[in-house]
Parts: sequence; structure tokens; C-alpha cells
Amino acid sequence: MSFEQLDQQVIVQGLCVRCGLCVGVCPVLAIGLDDNGYPQLTGKCTGCDFCNSSCPGGDIDLPALSRRIHGVDYDPLSLQGYVENMYVAYPGDSAVREAGASGGVVTGLLLYLLKSKKIDGAVVAGMDPDKPYCTKGVLATTAEEIIAAARSKYSVTPSMDVMRFLRKSKGRFAVVGLPCQIQGLRKLEEVDPSLSAKIFCILGLYCHCNLERNTPKEAIEAKGIDLADVARFDFRGGVWPGRFQVTRKDGAIIPLYSINPTTVLNVLFRLYGANRCFVCVDALAEYADLSFGDFWARDYKGPLSEMERCTLVSQRTRTGASILQEAVADGAIILRRLPEERASKRILNMARGKKQKAWVRLINRAGRNETVPHYHFTIPEPSSKARRSVFMYDFYQLLRGTPLRKFVLKIFFSPVGCAIDYLNLRRKRCFCNYHGN
Ligand SMILES: Cc1cc2nc3c(=O)[nH]c(=O)nc-3n(C[C@H](O)[C@H](O)[C@H](O)COP(=O)(O)OP(=O)(O)OC[C@H]3O[C@@H](n4cnc5c(N)ncnc54)[C@H](O)[C@@H]3O)c2cc1C
Repeated sequence: MSFEQLDQQVIVQGLCVRCGLCVGVCPVLAIGLDDNGYPQLTGKCTGCDFCNSSCPGGDIDLPALSRRIHGVDYDPLSLQGYVENMYVAYPGDSAVREAGASGGVVTGLLLYLLKSKKIDGAVVAGMDPDKPYCTKGVLATTAEEIIAAARSKYSVTPSMDVMRFLRKSKGRFAVVGLPCQIQGLRKLEEVDPSLSAKIFCILGLYCHCNLERNTPKEAIEAKGIDLADVARFDFRGGVWPGRFQVTRKDGAIIPLYSINPTTVLNVLFRLYGANRCFVCVDALAEYADLSFGDFWARDYKGPLSEMERCTLVSQRTRTGASILQEAVADGAIILRRLPEERASKRILNMARGKKQKAWVRLINRAGRNETVPHYHFTIPEPSSKARRSVFMYDFYQLLRGTPLRKFVLKIFFSPVGCAIDYLNLRRKRCFCNYHGN
């Protein structure tokens, strides 16, 4: 019984990344999702083992993946993974740029691929029309659907469940995913080549961490808004770079906070970060054809410092290179190559922090005989800064699942939160060489 194996070895052990791929690859549609995004058996398992052997939760052979996808050895110390070129980019159509989270390049590329008939649709993430504060996977087959799914969804979204629609389809599709989801898709290439052949390209999002599925719901409640009044929830609504925002059924638009969105996200990651993300060692979607993140113009010098509202692009494969080349020739995307420093210090710090903290937890958990994901490389010695940081994170874990967690949110969404944020920024500017937003 392969689902039983998946259940015992991955789900019960707390290793499920909730990517939804097991649901998507099951040929007899015997797997569903519970409200928290965990897979559960809903039909009769035939023991084909597709779910188990494509699962990225418990076992990912990163060295083998590096050699197969990029033809290079895996270097645990490399922050960016294998990259051929880095760009800063934006779509030629300013409305698409406005629609996107960073610069709208992912949406711009999907629209170009659809228009040029290279794809018949794309696996993306949208909001559930029945519960507008819950995310869900969407198979977008029209330009309108692709635009509607634009912008980041920062809570766990098992969007790979949508792969189930691809099996019967004759078309080819782009898939947008987070690093964990992409690791599963790469495993699928060996497990089920006929399903995998439907994937034209894999577009990855940089990912610091994902939030628990109930985060928007608790944030809305902490702001005192009745869930029944919510018509729409945006993780990055309003003026770029955007913040959590509710549109009520009466049309009123309510930002949930007025302080620096980065501060709020940092607090949320501590209080609501999905546990499995804390042992993930891939920050920049290292196995995508192209991966994308926020470009902060102020991190750069010269003309790049004026390119606000753009997307940072890591081109990793030949497929990625030709998609970019053709989209640029079409005018769908405008690119500028990044100079020597490539990703900004900010992105590299994020990747370093994610990897090093994951190493600390992998070592700690293995030391306590807890089950950890097997990445097939020797974990390097983490820095003492990472160890201290994990200690502090563990302190926040004590608040999880308690009313105190919502209380902390309430404070951050109030004028007291503004004062704390102001003092914290002053502290960072004075003592921590802080140069960010
Ligand atoms: C959980 C999460 C964490 C992130 N962390 C970072 C970070 O730390 N640093 C950084 O620089 N960038 C991060 N990003 C990426 C960043 O937020 C933007 O998504 C990226 O820069 C692309 O911007 P864009 O405007 O080009 O994309 P858009 O044009 O807005 O398109 C985004 C596409 O991604 C899809 N999508 C959105 N959310 C998800 C999801 N959860 N799962 C699968 N598909 C999704 C959308 O449906 C859409 O198709 C994160 C994104 C997510 C979802």
C-alpha cells in the first residue's frame, strides 16, 4: 500500500511539505486534501507508488538532482545554486507589471507562452472563491485566469494537486511552484515520464518560508473583521510592494496594518511559519528553469537603482534561456542583465539564513532521534549566529496554537505596533548597518 507508506514515513513524521503533488499524480484520484492541506486517502489505493516516489517531503537526493538537471555537483555552501545568468526584468505591458507581486514577470511570461501557443495553460495559485482567505491550486487556461492568479500567496498552497487535470489533457503546461514543489516535479520526471512530459517549463519562486494555512484567517480576525464580510484577501494588496489587505463585501478596502510589510512578515514567519519549511535547504528554487524573486532597487547602484517594481530572475537551464530570449524578442519582457554582484546582499542573506538555520535544525533534530528529510549530503557546520537565531525562533514556537499568538498580531496591527516598528528600525539603523526598506 503505497499511500500507507507515504502516510507513515512522511505525513505522520511531520515531513509533508503540503505541495499537493501526491494528489496530482495519483492515477486513480484516490488522494484528497484535508483543510490544513495534508493529503488523505479518499479512495482505494492501487499501490502504484507514484505518490510515494515523487514526494519531496522525506527524501530528496540533491546531489543526484544537481547532476541530472544542471550537470554539476551539489555544493551545500552555494547560496544561489546553479545559475547561468541573472537579470532584472519587467513586462512590456504596464498593466501586467501592475498586476504582479514584484514586477509581474512570472505573469508576463505565462501570458507570452499562452499567446504564442507554447503552452495550453499553467498551474498557478489562486484564492478559493468560497473561502476568499484560503489559497488553492488553479489550472489557468486563459489570459484572464493567469492575471487573476498573479501575486504571491504566502500561505501553504498544495497547488500541485492540479496536476491531476494534466494526465488526461493533450496539451503542455507551465508550472509555477515553490522550491519544495519543484523538487517533487523533478522527481516526477523519473517516476512518471508521460505525465511529466506535459510540463513545458518550471517557473520557481524564491522562498524564505511559507505560512500556515490559517494565517490570513487569524490575521483578519485579529483586525476585528468578520470573516463572513470578506469578499477578497490579498497578501500583497494596495500600493507596491503591498501588504495584507481585505476587500469587504460592501466594497471597503481595509489594509490590515500600516507598518513596514517586511516587519510583519518576519513576525508572521516566526508565529505561523510552516514547520517543515524550517528544515528546507532551498531558498531560491534551485531546480527551476527560471526562478524569480523581489528586486529591491535601492540595493543596487547606478541605473539599476532606478528600476523599482521589477522582478529578479535567475536563469538556470537552457529551457529557461530560450523562453526568456523569445519573450524578449516579442517585447513581452524587458530584461537587464545583472552585473557582478548578481543577487543582492539582501537575497543572499535570506538564502544564507534559510540554509544555515535549516542545518542547525537538521543537526538538532537528528541528535534527538527525530525523523528529518534525507538530502543525501553531509550537513556543513552552521554558524553560531544561525544557532542563536534558531534558539530565538524556538522561543516564538511556544506561542504557537495559543491565544497569545493572535494577541501579538493584534498589537502589531495597532498604533503600538507602529511604535515598536519605528523603534526597531531605529535600532537596526544605529547598530546593525541596516540599509533596507
Ligand atoms: C511563500 C512565498 C515566499 C516567498 N519568499 C520570497 C523571499 O523571501 N524573497 C523574495 O525575493 N521573493 C520571495 N517570494 C517570491 C515573490 O514574492 C514573487 O512571487 C516573485 O518575485 C515573482 O514576482 P512576479 O511579480 O514576477 O510574479 P507574479 O507575476 O505576481 O506571479 C506570481 C505567480 O506565482 C504564483 N504563485 C503565487 N503564490 C504561489 C504559491 N504559494 N505557490 C505556487 N505558486 C504561487 C501565482 O499564481 C502567479 O502565477 C516568495 C513567494 C512565495 C509564494
